[in-house]
Amino acid sequence: MRLILFVGPPGSGKGTQAQRLAQELGYRHLVMGDLLRQEIQAQTPLGQKIQPLLSAGLLVPDELVIDMIAQHLHNGTNYILDGFPRTIAQAEALDRLLAEKGASLCAVLALEVPEEELISRLLKRSQIEGRPDDNPETIQRRLAEYHSKTRPLLEFYKARGILRPISGVGSIAEITDRIKKAVEMC
Ligand code: ADP
Repeated sequence: MRLILFVGPPGSGKGTQAQRLAQELGYRHLVMGDLLRQEIQAQTPLGQKIQPLLSAGLLVPDELVIDMIAQHLHNGTNYILDGFPRTIAQAEALDRLLAEKGASLCAVLALEVPEEELISRLLKRSQIEGRPDDNPETIQRRLAEYHSKTRPLLEFYKARGILRPISGVGSIAEITDRIKKAVEMC
């Protein structure tokens, strides 16, 4: 099992790029936000618990997403993780999980986009897709959660020598090309 992670603020294009790369490499694209939204849609007890957090733009508790990811990683498959880990505690849990499975973390792709651009992309997306957490107040909360809880992951993975910063500004195809070069060794 090999893994590639995408880390980036909301609106950085992680989802789009992760999907394209997964197709290119034949990896499975695992999207934490989608797994959580499926629980909400199915109105499971878990879904009912996390619904207010997602609507408010807050991260859900670590234990919960760690459990979910553990259930979705299977030996013999390669994964692109999109939206996990988002905290240092999640990254440490992922390390333990990978050690148990003898799996390796090949690269961590960090998409970089200026804050003003992120906000305008998210507002535009809210008009097109109508995602309930794409309104101005929630967008600010999601960005604040990113800065306080997720951004520390960049240092964490940089210290391990696997961080690959990628400019997330440009055409979709240009960005995919940058990413493909950054994962040539995977
Ligand atoms: P985006 O990155 O565009 O904000 P996602 O679809 O990746 O959107 O995530 C939507 C929401 O799901 C987040 O705002 C958060 O509430 C929750 N979420 C997703 N992944 C995680 C995670 N790893 N840990 C905690 N909460 C998460």
